[in-house]
Amino acid sequence: MKTTLPIPSEVEEISHTLTKAGFEAFVVGGSVRDLLIGKAPTDWDLTTNATPEQIQALFPHTFYENTYGTVGVVSDDTEDPILKTVEVTPYRIESGYSDFRRPDKVEWGNTVEQDLARRDFTMNAIAYDLENQAIVDPYEGQEDIKKGLIKTVGKPEERFGEDALRILRAVRLSSTLNFAIEAETQQAIIDNAILLENISKERIRDEFIKIVMSPNPSVALDLSARLGVLQYISPELLKGIGIEQNQAHAYTVWEHLLRSLDHTAKKNFPLHVRVAALFHDIAKPHTRKWLNNQWTFYGHEVVGAKIVKNVLNDLKFPKDIIDKVTKLVRWHMFFSDTEEISLSAVRRMVRNVTPELIWDLMDVRGADRIGTGRPKEAPYRLRKYHAMIEEVMRDPISVKQLKVNGEDIMKLTDTKGGPHIGFILEILLSEVLEDPSLNTKEYLEQKVRELHALPFEKLSELGKEARNKNEDEDEREVEKIKGKHGVQ
Ligand code: ATP
Ligand code: MG
Repeated sequence: MKTTLPIPSEVEEISHTLTKAGFEAFVVGGSVRDLLIGKAPTDWDLTTNATPEQIQALFPHTFYENTYGTVGVVSDDTEDPILKTVEVTPYRIESGYSDFRRPDKVEWGNTVEQDLARRDFTMNAIAYDLENQAIVDPYEGQEDIKKGLIKTVGKPEERFGEDALRILRAVRLSSTLNFAIEAETQQAIIDNAILLENISKERIRDEFIKIVMSPNPSVALDLSARLGVLQYISPELLKGIGIEQNQAHAYTVWEHLLRSLDHTAKKNFPLHVRVAALFHDIAKPHTRKWLNNQWTFYGHEVVGAKIVKNVLNDLKFPKDIIDKVTKLVRWHMFFSDTEEISLSAVRRMVRNVTPELIWDLMDVRGADRIGTGRPKEAPYRLRKYHAMIEEVMRDPISVKQLKVNGEDIMKLTDTKGGPHIGFILEILLSEVLEDPSLNTKEYLEQKVRELHALPFEKLSELGKEARNKNEDEDEREVEKIKGKHGVQ
């Protein structure tokens, strides 16, 4: 029976070049699976009986930098990143996984069936012969795709024993495809989850990112928790399970984090916002205290920032993402009651989280709110808060934006560099954060002279005070207001 799958011309051409030279060629793996489901593939893979050297000889632009035989064939005529490089891999046979993660030996196979036998799931073990429009499907992957089932090729415990990453791939694919995991495969995941200890953090991170970027990440994370896989992504996430909160929250910490994350996915927010939503209350289990007949979580954002930094470091996330997520978690508790908040508090908040991240912080906060099951913020309040942010974004919020700098201070005070410069700058900034109209050369120069006249101990004390204030005024204001209303 002929089947016609919509293959882009770039991939078709590569297949033709191989077959014209007398080799076999098949589109294979996730790309065929996605086409059969009716989804756009995220990458294209071909498999062939040509060796890496033979593949390289056929195409003008290739690269080959691995031990698995995969040759990247580059199409120079397209800018589409998905089609730019198509991976062409010789039929492979693998044997002897003594470390649960990579084959001891990779051999080239003679038939496409041999290659399909080493693939992880039936839905991923389908090959498509473009020239004859024929499907090779020895494990009835098409049936499983119809049923929406993830099932290993062969005995699940053997296949997970060879490469434990397949456990996480099963969980991840259940989320990206919205498929169920077949019963025996599920049991084998529970029995073998501990093998994930052997898998590199980088590979775990990559699957975790795919989960977080999927349309319904909570599906895979909830499944990970139930199958005993979550602790290998992060034991910290596990701690929120079953942790009850106060009256304002209908959900446990874990449920709340999942709901917040799903909201960021629904909104198609970028990775750092999604990860921040998933981790924003990560320290609640650590900081929970029973006080005045309810649970309190004082300081969970401060502890949480430290925890998330460690978790993401451990998973080898790039520094840029770690920095952003840490800041978003640290500042997610900002006070936003527009009736009571002052512009200077908003200014300090923007300074803390940085102008680059201020709108992302608002998105994390929105997700936090939706994640509690409460209705959205009333639009007029939100608009008012946004207007306040926009207003303060024009104001100076860092020492760099002051009308006098360190060198000016040295000249004015006829001194060399030293700690006094930093203290003076912090004091000036503190005043300007309070009232941006004070950011004039005249006012600040006069202030520098006054401060320089103080004994060093006094200046140091005022400088430290100003630094603290610049950093956590928002929080103190919150405490004051909370005290007034008897809330926490
Ligand atoms: P995605 O949609 O994320 O690309 P995918 O299944 O295509 O999912 P890839 O990493 O692109 O994942 O792998 C391509 C194909 O290689 C898979 O469909 C599968 O056939 C095979 N494969 C990938 N990883 C493994 C593994 N760990 N064990 C066995 N086969 C694997
Ligand atoms: Mg793929």
